[in-house]
Amino acid sequence: MKKIRIGIPYALYFYEYYPLWKEFLTRLGAEVILSKPTNKNILDLGVRSSLSEVCLPVKIFYGHVLSLADQVDYILIPRMVCVEKGAFFCPKIIGLPDMVKSSISTLNSLLVPLVDVRKPYGTWKNSLFQVGQLITDNSLAISRAFSISWENFQKNYVANLLDPKLLNPSLLAKDTKNVAQGLDKMTINININIAVVGHDYLVNDSYINLNLIDKLKKMNVNILTPSMVPPRIVKKQLKKLYKPIFWSLSRKAVGAALYYFENKVEGVIHLTSFECGEDSMVGELIHHQSKQYPEVAYTEFVFDEHTGEAGINTRLEAFLDMVRRKKQYEINFAPSR
Ligand code: SF4
Repeated sequence: MKKIRIGIPYALYFYEYYPLWKEFLTRLGAEVILSKPTNKNILDLGVRSSLSEVCLPVKIFYGHVLSLADQVDYILIPRMVCVEKGAFFCPKIIGLPDMVKSSISTLNSLLVPLVDVRKPYGTWKNSLFQVGQLITDNSLAISRAFSISWENFQKNYVANLLDPKLLNPSLLAKDTKNVAQGLDKMTINININIAVVGHDYLVNDSYINLNLIDKLKKMNVNILTPSMVPPRIVKKQLKKLYKPIFWSLSRKAVGAALYYFENKVEGVIHLTSFECGEDSMVGELIHHQSKQYPEVAYTEFVFDEHTGEAGINTRLEAFLDMVRRKKQYEINFAPSR
């Protein structure tokens, strides 16, 4: 029997939830087709089909949906509203299925389960169950697939976090300093720790962020990201704020930024989207917090479809140059013990 093919756009919240949906659907016998990593064609498709006022990640989401349209029977676009107490997804994500439907009239096979854990019919279990019923009418098989996929998702979400040593940047910084002290004191080619914070779909999509992570790696930088900070530490950091963060997707970025400031990495780069209300508020908040840590360099990069690579390269080089010189100065003039 021919398998049902379900397309998943490799964009927005799927950077976080793809493993859950993929395992669940595959266990039920569906064929899951993930769109290709963002490329020029996907960007062009998205820009042409979406409203010009939306942020770049949403435009790119449109492009991923269109790139899947003729390869699959259904495209999965969950309506993500609320996954934790007191926080919500941004309005563009909540309205994403409607925006996509109204802008791309040729699409008639969207799967739009609701994920809103405040409502009994919006729990993860009910949402996945609703989609599972399209594939099979065996309720027991759907329940079993849900339990296993959910358990694996929970387990791997934490297990996928990197080496615990990387979770303690201050430790890493000390190691780096010790190594550097043995070197020629005039060299400025010192390993440094830079935290790149922001939404997963900005930090991990190398087309959107113009290959920023690779560029940093080539510059001999240790990269730290929000996904390396365990959820319990993020929660702990957020408690230090005067008011709770209202948006689920920004909680991780803010909690991670606070953690990295506190652990005194050499620099923090915040990636934001132009036309993102959430980022404009959260950017101010992170910037404000950064002032408590003058020893940590801080900058913000804003992306939209017009952002030029040359501009990013220049700013990145200038930022790293400043960080390295500062570190070199600290090494050369640190009081001897
Ligand atoms: S949080 Fe910001 S960048 Fe993300 S979808 Fe909403 S408006 Fe766009």
